Amino acid sequence: MKPGSGTSRSGTSPQRGPTRSYLLGQLARDLGAVVGRDHVSADPVALAEQSADWSWMAQFLRSRDLPLPTADLVVRPDSTSEVEGIVRIASEYRAPVVPRGGGSGTQGGTFALHGGIAVDLTRMNRIVDVDETSLVVTVQAGIDGSVLESELNTLGLTLAHYPGSHHFGATIGGSLAARGSGVVSTKYGKAEDMALQLEAVVPPGRRVSTLPIPNHAAGPDLLQTFIGSEGTLGIITEATMRLDPLPEARRFLSFTFADIDTGIEAGRRIMTSRIVPAVMRLYDEADSARLTSMLDLGASGVLLIIVLDGTDASTALEQRAIEAVCDGKGGVGLGSGPAETWWDGKYEPFSKHNAPAPPTVFGTTDTCARFVDLQGLYRAKKRAIEEGFAEYGARYTAHFSHWYPWGAMIYDRFYVDGGPDDPDEALALHDRLWDAAVTASLANGGIINDHHGVGLKLGRFMRPQYGEAFDLMVAIKNAWDPDGIMNPGKLGFGAPRSGWQR
Ligand SMILES: Cc1cc2nc3c(=O)[nH]c(=O)nc-3n(C[C@H](O)[C@H](O)[C@H](O)COP(=O)(O)OP(=O)(O)OC[C@H]3O[C@@H](n4cnc5c(N)ncnc54)[C@H](O)[C@@H]3O)c2cc1C
Repeated sequence: MKPGSGTSRSGTSPQRGPTRSYLLGQLARDLGAVVGRDHVSADPVALAEQSADWSWMAQFLRSRDLPLPTADLVVRPDSTSEVEGIVRIASEYRAPVVPRGGGSGTQGGTFALHGGIAVDLTRMNRIVDVDETSLVVTVQAGIDGSVLESELNTLGLTLAHYPGSHHFGATIGGSLAARGSGVVSTKYGKAEDMALQLEAVVPPGRRVSTLPIPNHAAGPDLLQTFIGSEGTLGIITEATMRLDPLPEARRFLSFTFADIDTGIEAGRRIMTSRIVPAVMRLYDEADSARLTSMLDLGASGVLLIIVLDGTDASTALEQRAIEAVCDGKGGVGLGSGPAETWWDGKYEPFSKHNAPAPPTVFGTTDTCARFVDLQGLYRAKKRAIEEGFAEYGARYTAHFSHWYPWGAMIYDRFYVDGGPDDPDEALALHDRLWDAAVTASLANGGIINDHHGVGLKLGRFMRPQYGEAFDLMVAIKNAWDPDGIMNPGKLGFGAPRSGWQR
C-alpha cells in the first residue's frame, strides 16, 4: 500500500513474532517511499544512539551497558514535505513519533519509551533566508546552532544563543522545543524571545505555520504553544528568528561579595535599575570553588561575573552604574580579569574532563523565581540536598546566571559521589534527589525548570506545578494529537492511546 492512500491501519499494534516483524517491515517500506530507503534504519546501534541524550539516566544506563528505551525505526527526513509524509504514515499506523535534534537534551526527551519512529532532524540543516534589513533569519529546524552562528558572524550578525551545549550539536529546533537559553540571555533573551515564526507538522501529517508577525492582537499565541512542547504536539520544521548585530564593544567586570545575600541584592538592584548586562553570573562559594578548579580565575568566594555588550560609550556608562551598585553592597572589584577568563573558557565546565559523569549521581535542578523569593528558594534547595541527603554526603552548588527584570534563575546542582552500585538503587536515589529539589522549588516560589525542559525526567511534576490548569494542557494535547503518538510519555502526558507496544 502507498503511504497516504487513505486506508487506515488504525489500532494496528504490532504483536510479537511474525506479525510484528511483517508490520515493521511494511512500516519501513512505507517510510522509505517518503524519505528514501537509505534514510530508514532498524539497526540497533542507530536506534540506541537516537534514544540517547545527555540526561544522567542515559549516561548511567550506557555506563552500565543497560538498554535504553529505543524506537523500532529511525528515519532521517530532508524536508518539511518528508516530515509531513512521516507523520501521516505514523498516524495511519498509530505509531509513536519521537523527534530528535542534536540529542544534547538532559531530560530524557528523546527516549522512545513506547517504541515507534525516531525522527532524526539533522539533515534538515539549511539556512533558508537571511533578511539583513529586518535582522531576521529563517532556518530548517535541524541546523546546529554553532554552525548557524558562525555563518551569521561572517555577516556581522549574531543569534546570540550560546547554550553550554553550543558544541554538543544542539539544534535550533531542539532549543525552541525545550525552551532553551544561552549564556547571554539576560540581554538578548531566551530562544522563546528570539522566535518570530515557526512552521511545524502536526498529526495526521499537516503542515502549519504561525503568523509571520509575532506581536499581534489576533488571538492566542500559537507560536508560544509550540515552543516548549518538546515534540508532544508536532515536529518543528522551520524557525524564523530575530538577530542582533555583533556588539561593537564588550566590557568585562568582576566582583566578590561577603556572602550570597549581598550578591543577590546587588544583582537585583542592577536589574531593577534596568541596566541590562549580556552576562551576569553570581556564584555561591561552592560553585566558585568548582569553577576555579577548572579555570584560572585568580578569585574565590562569592563571585559576580559581568559582561557588557554595546558601544564603548554605552558600556562605560553601564560599568559606572554597576560599580556604584556593587560598592553600595560592599562588593570588591576584581577588574576585568576573572570575567574575561570566564568568557574565554565558558564551555570548559562542560568539557569531557570537567563535566560530571556516572557513577556520580548528579542533576541540574535549575529553577527561577521573583526577587522577593530568591534568597529563601536558594536556601531551601541547599538544605533539601545537603541536609536531606547528608547520609550520602550530597553536595550542592549554585549560580544565578539568567536574570530577568523581575527575578532570576538559579542554576543549581546536586552531586552524590560514587552512588549505589545496584542500578535500581542508583536510579531510585537519583529520583529521590529530584523529588526533594523540585518539591523545594515549588514550595518556595520557584518552578520545576528554567531552561532545560521537562522531558521524561520532570513529567511527574507537571500536574503539581500547574494544578487544575494542567487539565487544559492535556485537553490541548488530546485535541491536537488524538492518538497520543507525538513523543508519548513526555511532559507528563502519559502513554499513547494508540496501544502501540514495543
Ligand atoms: C553540556 C550541556 C550543556 C547544556 N547547556 C544548556 C544551556 O546552557 N542552555 C540550555 O537551554 N540547554 C542546555 N543544555 C540542554 C540542551 O542542550 C538543550 O535543551 C538544547 O536546546 C537541546 O537541543 P537538541 O537539538 O540537542 O535537542 P534534543 O536533545 O534532540 O531534543 C530535546 C527535546 O526536544 C524535542 N525536539 C528536538 N527537536 C525537535 C523539533 N524540531 N521539533 C519538535 N521537537 C523537537 C525532542 O523530542 C526532545 O524532547 C545543555 C546540555 C548539555 C549536554
